[in-house]
Amino acid sequence: MQIINHLGPLRDRIDQLREDGAHVALVPTMGALHAGHMSLVRAAKARADAIVTSIFVNPTQFGEGEDLDAYPRTLEADAAMLAAEGVDIVWAPPVSEVYPEGFSTSIHMTGLSDDYCGSARPGHFDGVALIVAKLFNQVRPALAFFGEKDWQQLAVIRRMASDLDFDLEIAGVPIMRDKDGLALSSRNRYLSDEERQAAIVLPQALAAAAEEIRHGGDVAEILEKAIAKLVAAGFDQPDYFALVDSVSLERLGAPTAGPMRLLAAAKIGRTRLIDNLEV
Ligand code: AMP
Repeated sequence: MQIINHLGPLRDRIDQLREDGAHVALVPTMGALHAGHMSLVRAAKARADAIVTSIFVNPTQFGEGEDLDAYPRTLEADAAMLAAEGVDIVWAPPVSEVYPEGFSTSIHMTGLSDDYCGSARPGHFDGVALIVAKLFNQVRPALAFFGEKDWQQLAVIRRMASDLDFDLEIAGVPIMRDKDGLALSSRNRYLSDEERQAAIVLPQALAAAAEEIRHGGDVAEILEKAIAKLVAAGFDQPDYFALVDSVSLERLGAPTAGPMRLLAAAKIGRTRLIDNLEV
């Protein structure tokens, strides 16, 4: 496994792989890797000849007062996990390589990015779209893998890739959860023991709400009850807890025939957790 920090050597290596006819897959991450990231790597290995995992804590997707500085950076441990999974290249550029002085380009997403994490974190998805577009240009993958853990992000990235004519396949990978149901996240390491225990109420509230919706209950009441459960467990008032059309992300006040998903984000202590569940 090669760890590459600069664009020149990355391009040379990617050129070589492409000349050899390799199908290159990209797995973008912000590091602080866990088993959820590894499930993306495994899904990529099953479909491609060469795997590039990027590790980059992207400043443009963090808002004022968010956890950019505190975000865990564990490159050595990450590299060991990726080597054990048979990753070929770790692409870990410094910020100055990605956003050199004078950098002036932005991407502004609308529509899918407006609600939910988009309204709770203004500018977040513009930053995500920008870094992912740059990673696509840097790595030129045939396939890129993203987690369903970030359901809205996956929808926004599919839209961006289609809008900007990126010629690649975007693959979604199911959410990897801890034994007790909490979705794995790099941010879980911020949780105190007490918060970690309370945090399982988030997937529990999603599962209970999904079940009740399937049984034909009143959606507004079910969502209200779920929110009350979270607050009783020690969460702040959630940023959102919504039933949505899985594809358009439109809010649903009542079940529809198409695929539906519950999306939720809420803070416990200083840690913001997000999760979602198919209904
Ligand atoms: P991050 O490092 O948090 O930006 O995540 C990098 C990628 O891993 C994103 O595509 C996430 O959706 C995905 N991911 C993070 N946590 C999980 C999880 N628990 N299960 C599946 N994918 C995940």
